[in-house]
Amino acid sequence: MEKLIFHVDVNSAYLSWEAARRVKNGEPDLRLIPSAIGGDREKRTGVILAKSIPAKKYGVKTGEPVAMALRKCPQLELARPDFRLYEKNSKAFMDVCRKYAPVVEKYSIDECFLDMTGTGILYPDPIAIARTIKDEIRDTLGFTVNVGIGRTKICAKMASDFEKPDKIHTLFPEEIPQKLWPLPVGDLFTVGAATAQKLQKAYLSTIGDLAKADLALVQAVVGKKWGIQLHEYANGIDNSPVHTQSEEAKGYSNSVTLETDVTDYDRANQILLALADSVCSRMRSDGIKAQCVAVTIRGNDFKNRSHQRKLQEPTDITAEVYALCKELFREVWDRRTPLRLLGVSLTDLGHDGYFQQSLFPDQKRQKNEKLDAAVDSIRQRFGNTTIQLGGAMKTGESVGRKHKAQMALRNGQKED
Ligand SMILES: [Mg+2]
Repeated sequence: MEKLIFHVDVNSAYLSWEAARRVKNGEPDLRLIPSAIGGDREKRTGVILAKSIPAKKYGVKTGEPVAMALRKCPQLELARPDFRLYEKNSKAFMDVCRKYAPVVEKYSIDECFLDMTGTGILYPDPIAIARTIKDEIRDTLGFTVNVGIGRTKICAKMASDFEKPDKIHTLFPEEIPQKLWPLPVGDLFTVGAATAQKLQKAYLSTIGDLAKADLALVQAVVGKKWGIQLHEYANGIDNSPVHTQSEEAKGYSNSVTLETDVTDYDRANQILLALADSVCSRMRSDGIKAQCVAVTIRGNDFKNRSHQRKLQEPTDITAEVYALCKELFREVWDRRTPLRLLGVSLTDLGHDGYFQQSLFPDQKRQKNEKLDAAVDSIRQRFGNTTIQLGGAMKTGESVGRKHKAQMALRNGQKED
């Protein structure tokens, strides 16, 4: 049977989700002005996690420091990240997809693949059903997605990227020469700026050049294994199946995809702290603790690497999870591969009281618990956006924690 795969991608996800929330409250639509999610405007710290299309016109990039973005676009409206809001919206749009697709693979917080193979009797026209899904998400949830349609995951993914927002594109085999091949090689999934440059030096400037090139030449530029993959991708070939995931229910996780590669420990640690904080605060509000911590990284070779370890005792303490994340990250990252994605996930869960209390409670732990409780209560009173990341994304664990708590208290008092 001929395969049919959709890739559903939320347009500027974090920003759209924040914008949708504000529009519901009668506030201006962030999507229509130069705006971005991330960091602290006054302190000019943190990184840009998402930006609006008007901000993109100023050259603002995801993953770049806030200070740099503000230099390019001084009027940039900045909003603090709110990972709980993102998780909620992520689940909501994937639930819409699950109503129509037999198999849904969550690829990241704002992207999923749908395997629509064999649904021809129910939905004879793929574009019509794609439109139904897209419009239902827009009309019921208040944000837009792009849907890419193809016979392979790579084609679906490339197609969803063609023209945004709120669009459906097909990339069937017969359309590859006309729609895919004229694009610059840097647009191909997994090709970052540095690799694009190397390929261009070898006179492989477009995806078509790459598709028609000798495999050996491609391999000489990017290495043997990745060479095969890139050559296949350029030809729309990709045999990887759409996986359903059930492990999500068994753990708490969060990840962030970055447009600008992460290349140093400082920025990686800032992001890990933000991720650990968001995951732990969700666990605390659900009354859940976890004992196993995993860090996932995806390099610009688009290979996922993951590393996990068990803690001595189950925890929901941000500082403990962050400390282990840093360790795991140091062990899993080779320090050379620029990173595109960082993720933190916690498994081996149990409810509060399910785990035996340690006989010798240590003081540091109690202090950290109090700190988390203070942060959580301020979050509850003033909303998630008041304190997240802005302070949390400061580097250095103890400095970061202290800073975060002070920041939290200050914000609380300010708004009181
Ligand atoms: Mg997206």
